[in-house]
Amino acid sequence: SKAQLFDKGTKVNITFNDVAGLDEAKVEVMEIVDFLKNPKKYTNLGGKIPKGALLVGPPGTGKTLLAKAVAGEAQVPFFSLSGSDFVEMFVGVGASRVRDLFKQAREKAPCIIFIDEIDAIGRARGKNAIMSNDERESTLNQLLVEMDGFSGESGIIVLAATNRPDVLDSALLRPGRFDRQISIDKPDVKGREAIFKVHLKPIKVSEHVDIHKLAEQTPGFAGADIANVCNEAALIAARKGKEAVDMSDFQDAVDRVIGGLEKKNKIISPDE
Ligand code: ATP
Repeated sequence: SKAQLFDKGTKVNITFNDVAGLDEAKVEVMEIVDFLKNPKKYTNLGGKIPKGALLVGPPGTGKTLLAKAVAGEAQVPFFSLSGSDFVEMFVGVGASRVRDLFKQAREKAPCIIFIDEIDAIGRARGKNAIMSNDERESTLNQLLVEMDGFSGESGIIVLAATNRPDVLDSALLRPGRFDRQISIDKPDVKGREAIFKVHLKPIKVSEHVDIHKLAEQTPGFAGADIANVCNEAALIAARKGKEAVDMSDFQDAVDRVIGGLEKKNKIISPDE
């Protein structure tokens, strides 16, 4: 809702176990967990702890999930805000939200700040901005001011997600800001199998369900689509009064999710 524009330092219970696949990305963010847990280990040798990292990848691939898992693993509060929340705000409101967010984060550090869809705020001038230029610029400027206003030792790490790194204002990518990029790709067949396993945990499945086959039948699916398939399959089976979800329910669910994805693709504008 618009009233609550960001998570105010919520405690999260998500860990790396909840994030399937993404092995390389996990290795990179494990370093961030260590920065949060043992900052002295790094600063003692004169190193500067990075302040921000950009998670780059298509929608639904687990960027938010991974950011939450970093907070969960390091046992620090999680603050978040989405670039799309700023669309159609009055000039100055975005900047004051950003200021407010960092103020609260400083009080609760060490912590993670997660900015989803940072491209909505951080687009370079003239690149098809979805909010007015004045508003976008004042929000972006405030973010840059905040990023420059704390040091790596303060225990705040800002993770931001985007699927359009190409449109970002280069000011965001300078050293001391989002100078690391971690790519979060759509899962391959092994990754999809691992994601199915995570999302099948709470579901009663019949013994004939072949997870490997499901992974093979879902090329191009992001983690969010797989989570969706598992849930749909459970609902389809329940509606039929079954005791457990079987392969045919999963197949119906896959078809349904593919139908949904096709519809979504039709309404996406050609330049996206
Ligand atoms: P967006 O860019 O649309 O915000 P995102 O990359 O942040 O997407 P998430 O919001 O993290 O994606 O993913 C949505 C949901 O999909 C997760 O809450 C989780 O249920 C599931 N999911 C996505 N990726 C994975 C994964 N690698 N392992 C397990 N579950 C996943």
